[in-house]
Amino acid sequence: MRSAVTGDEPSFSFEFFPPKTEAGARVLWDVIRRVEALSPTFVSVTYGAGGSSRDRTVEVTQSIASETTLRPVAHLTAVGHSVAELRCIIGQYADAGIRDILVVRGDPPGDPRGAWTPHPQGLTYASELVELVRSLGEFSVGVAAFPERHPRSADWDSDIRHFVAKCRAGADYALTQMFFDVEDYLRLRDQVAAAGCDTPIIPEIMPATDVRQISRFAELSNAAFPEDLAHRLEAVRDDREASYRVGVEHATAMGQRLLAEGAPGLHYITLNRSTAALEIHQNIQNSRSAHALAAHR
Ligand code: FAD
Repeated sequence: MRSAVTGDEPSFSFEFFPPKTEAGARVLWDVIRRVEALSPTFVSVTYGAGGSSRDRTVEVTQSIASETTLRPVAHLTAVGHSVAELRCIIGQYADAGIRDILVVRGDPPGDPRGAWTPHPQGLTYASELVELVRSLGEFSVGVAAFPERHPRSADWDSDIRHFVAKCRAGADYALTQMFFDVEDYLRLRDQVAAAGCDTPIIPEIMPATDVRQISRFAELSNAAFPEDLAHRLEAVRDDREASYRVGVEHATAMGQRLLAEGAPGLHYITLNRSTAALEIHQNIQNSRSAHALAAHR
């Protein structure tokens, strides 16, 4: 199975979440069509915390596979599922021709920081889910990486050790948690390489265009919010257009530096809206084309 991220050129990809309403579905499909026109390497659909949102993940991912030219990557978590249920979901994806799965353990429903309790017939760590997916057929498998280390890891050593073990269980690539300081990504990448692991780690780009929303996300995901970016956004808190410009500029600069540092690709969080992610992607593509042109002169 060809990995979702092999290739000489850096990959670029976009992340969606399953919409809750009909109106949300229309907005998402508008974004999907705009993204499709760019021929990204892949798009991914997050897996809901429970119930109907999980069914919608499966439905949206299957529709992307059957109704577009895009390569969909389905997120899957171990939360609340027995191994038999996980097999069934993986089988549904395979039936729909979906062979790309991003395996994450998931967080406890309700309180993401609460105690992790596996399903009695389920799995405890993402590495076990990687092994399960691998055992069920030819899949390209991605896993999660944490530039500021996983919030449950006691220290960096154990975090890197478990991450490397997860990659060795059969991951083709990793996608990072959101982060706002390139140095965090570089430190993780270098520590993983020093541990002898060459699994490509693709950084996630989160446009920080709204200080209120981004502070909430950053808190939930444990991502530190750099003071200078916070100050710049705070200064234009009530000016949506100015906030948007600050977020796009910061993310563009991050993406440019990450690629210059050799990141294997960029994964853009869209929040099912296209404007910021597409503008950042376009800015980065333009600067890469300008560099390539200058190098040929
Ligand atoms: P694991 O790799 O299992 O690690 C969890 C903790 O256990 C870590 O501290 C690790 O060091 C430790 N550990 C691992 N193995 C062992 C071992 N053998 N012994 C002792 N300790 C061990 N959540 C959703 O609900 N839906 C999504 O679609 C979703 N998509 C995501 C996409 C990305 C790119 C990222 C970064 C996160 C996503 N999340 C999603 C959130 C994710 O589920 C949580 O961040 C979760 O806590 C991630 O766990 P993991 O897969 O890294 O778990």
